[in-house]
Amino acid sequence: MRFAVIGGGVIGLTTAYALVRRGHHVELIEKQNQVALETSFANGGQLSYRYVSPLADAGVPLQALGWMLRGDNAPLRFRPAISRHQWRWCLRFLQACRRSTNRRNAAHLLRLALHSQRVLRDWREEDGLSDFAWRANGKLVIHRDRASFENAAAALDPAAGQRVLDARQCAEIEPALFPLAERLKGGIYSPGDEVADCHLFCRRLLERLVRSPNFQLRSGQAVTALNRENRRIRSLSFGKESLEVDHLLIAAGAASVRLLQPLGIELPIYPLKGYSLTLPLSSHVGIPETNVTDYDNKVVYARLGDQLRVAAMVDIGGWDASVDQRRIAMLQRLAGETFPGAGNYRNATQWAGLRPATPEGTPLLGATTLDNLWLNVGHGSLGFTLACGSADVLGDLVTDQRPAVAMDGLTFTH
Ligand SMILES: Cc1cc2nc3c(=O)[nH]c(=O)nc-3n(C[C@H](O)[C@H](O)[C@H](O)COP(=O)(O)OP(=O)(O)OC[C@H]3O[C@@H](n4cnc5c(N)ncnc54)[C@H](O)[C@@H]3O)c2cc1C
Repeated sequence: MRFAVIGGGVIGLTTAYALVRRGHHVELIEKQNQVALETSFANGGQLSYRYVSPLADAGVPLQALGWMLRGDNAPLRFRPAISRHQWRWCLRFLQACRRSTNRRNAAHLLRLALHSQRVLRDWREEDGLSDFAWRANGKLVIHRDRASFENAAAALDPAAGQRVLDARQCAEIEPALFPLAERLKGGIYSPGDEVADCHLFCRRLLERLVRSPNFQLRSGQAVTALNRENRRIRSLSFGKESLEVDHLLIAAGAASVRLLQPLGIELPIYPLKGYSLTLPLSSHVGIPETNVTDYDNKVVYARLGDQLRVAAMVDIGGWDASVDQRRIAMLQRLAGETFPGAGNYRNATQWAGLRPATPEGTPLLGATTLDNLWLNVGHGSLGFTLACGSADVLGDLVTDQRPAVAMDGLTFTH
């Protein structure tokens, strides 16, 4: 089969890789001159296979009211817009905040995430995919607040293989936490989780793809319209130019919404802006080796080779990915308080990206109402984690084969 894939982020590249691996032809279309320069560029680096609870959860609406009062210093900042899309998304988000809905969506995500881990392992072991700062280093979610710790401990899914730790055990697993141990109430440890550099991973995938005669990259060209004929997409426009397509797969992150709107397809995806700092490490003292999530501040820390990546925050309020210095200042302060020995966070490289998030936190995979149009979108804050599994599932769905995981809760119901 011949596919055009729109989007050269981690989702589009893994999808292209899974399709080419199965013998299909892929033309990957990316509007930037290089791949993975948008949300897949400097994310948290966490392959968080077992810690997948969606943002929408019981208690979050109330907590969000408190955060709104804290303004720029809150983990979540809401800027209301005159936008039907924003309000519909927020309403659906509120509906997803029931504990039972959160648990159900977490189970869908866990199933896909564990499959993703198996697929990446196969690609590493069978294809020799390497050199992207991958490590199996485990993930530790630390809690400073007793109530949040007790909730997290009570909600553990036995299928996830996680352990509940007290503060002393947290510091034993991750010695860089010793200075903080007195302030911790405990932690949730996922020994099977991993870390890697998402941008490097994308570049390694591309290096392999371009060696295949079945792959072509069209970079530096933005798709401006999808042209429909009856129940099919006939062609894509790039301004005045056009390209005929057999099958079209959308993996354009948050921008997928605007590509599909003119066809009357409303994706429930909103861009949740987040920020990161990348700090070059000059010593190895006081640096976490494990992936650490500071639950109450909503900050993640990952060591990627000789750098520390610090990522955090959710801004709900628009489509621009500019870096807001007030948010960066907050991130520098929190990182400096948590791991002060890592270096001077003012010297860190600053970045912001838009998470393509559904209200429920679950991605939209597979068929649409049009016969040759496929989706791999809406991975929110878990796109790197879920990419290989989602791509593999798509590889099965496009040829009508049964995917390795059950698809309930993971499709686009129109
Ligand atoms: C601060 C932050 C921290 C994060 N941390 C983690 C983490 O630790 N672990 C994890 O699993 N996930 C994390 N994520 C989420 C993850 O980064 C995203 O889910 C993932 O990168 C989304 O990938 P994507 O390919 O869908 O989107 P993108 O990477 O944005 O790729 C979409 C591509 O489509 C292209 N495009 C768009 N429109 C067009 C068009 N019209 N024509 C042609 N090309 C087009 C864009 O240029 C872009 O390259 C984080 C996100 C943020 C913001």
